Amino acid sequence: MTIRVEVTADRRFGTNSYVVEDDQTHDAVIIDSNLEPELAVDASRRSGAKVRAILLTHTDLDHIAGLHDLREAFGDVPIAVHAGERNVIEKGEPLRREFGPLATQLENVVDLVEGEPFRAGSLEFEVLHTPGHSPGGVTLKIDGFLFTGDALFAGSVGRSDFANSDGTTLIEGIKSRLMTQPDDMIVYSGHGPATTIGREKKTNPFLT
Ligand SMILES: [Zn+2]
Repeated sequence: MTIRVEVTADRRFGTNSYVVEDDQTHDAVIIDSNLEPELAVDASRRSGAKVRAILLTHTDLDHIAGLHDLREAFGDVPIAVHAGERNVIEKGEPLRREFGPLATQLENVVDLVEGEPFRAGSLEFEVLHTPGHSPGGVTLKIDGFLFTGDALFAGSVGRSDFANSDGTTLIEGIKSRLMTQPDDMIVYSGHGPATTIGREKKTNPFLT
């Protein structure tokens, strides 16, 4: 199996949405849904990707803003999210006390559970719970790739100054779930460029 990853970033928040595709079967998922969903839709159409699910690393607005558009483009595919943030998607509950509620209320929401593989067509993801930026933050692992959302960035880690954030939990999760991965694992973050576990082990000032 060869996994192909296409990165798209919106211009407002620089939030990354990823198209992850099995090059043989063309089964694919979208990871996170930024403010310019048409970029991921176009990328999928160009490669002939058959999008089977939308996976969310967490539910801050800039990672879910394009969900309705993605559903319009790809049909009623499941939206997978950790139980800790499921109500944000299903019921429109606010993730952050600091911001207002969202209008988002979507059906066909399924759980991402740590330790249970998440399958979408021929793709199979491992789910690692990496909370702290938000309660239901997850990292999705497939092949040599880790999609870390806003837990781990190249040279940085996610914000933990929200009421439902926790800086200690964030660093603990990164150290136990991510820094224990092989050095050559490629890290695709919620914002900014890709990096590797080995590079972050050596140079990330928040993890030394
Ligand atoms: Zn973000």
